[in-house]
Amino acid sequence: MINKIKNVFCPTNKTKIHPAMDNGIAPTASNFNGGTLQCHCIRNPVTVTIDSQTAHNHACGCSKCWKPKGALFSQVAVVSKEKLSVTNNNSKLRVVDATATIQRFACKDCGVHMYGRIEDQTHPFFGLDFVHTELSADKGWSAPEFAAFVSSIIETGTDPKDMVAIRARLNALGLESYDCLSPTLMDVIATHVANSK
Ligand SMILES: [Zn+2]
Ligand SMILES: [Zn+2]
Repeated sequence: MINKIKNVFCPTNKTKIHPAMDNGIAPTASNFNGGTLQCHCIRNPVTVTIDSQTAHNHACGCSKCWKPKGALFSQVAVVSKEKLSVTNNNSKLRVVDATATIQRFACKDCGVHMYGRIEDQTHPFFGLDFVHTELSADKGWSAPEFAAFVSSIIETGTDPKDMVAIRARLNALGLESYDCLSPTLMDVIATHVANSK
């Protein structure tokens, strides 16, 4: 009982990670087959339709991923690029940084990133697009499984002293903290490198 109360009032619970995770993480629906993402524009929003479930959803602390206002982390998943199509207002999309490995297509009016694509055919993640499923009203997308590039949030202004509480909060949400990608994804990259030698 005391532990329960302690947990509720634990200061780490005030730590905001991301709006889609702060109140508990919605579970993955096993029969989910995709849905529609929409940017934040009230008029003429960009919509992206995804014809499959996403994979490897995670919290990301890097400085490149799009984050909603006030969030410490982004929430980002991958999907096969063949399963993704821009279904409305494609003309509003611009590449944020043409020199980046991931070409992030953002709405020029509201700034929301609609998808990120890797054009380098030798890249381990070539063929996958990066998406933020919180932009969808559809329920059942793959749930975040871990937190990547956690230490990177210091680079964008987080006080290093807050990191213990932040890692504890991620842990309480069931998200293991990594300062690169998860071991599974690091193994995918290393396997790709080994096979291409
Ligand atoms: Zn927009
Ligand atoms: Zn990121």
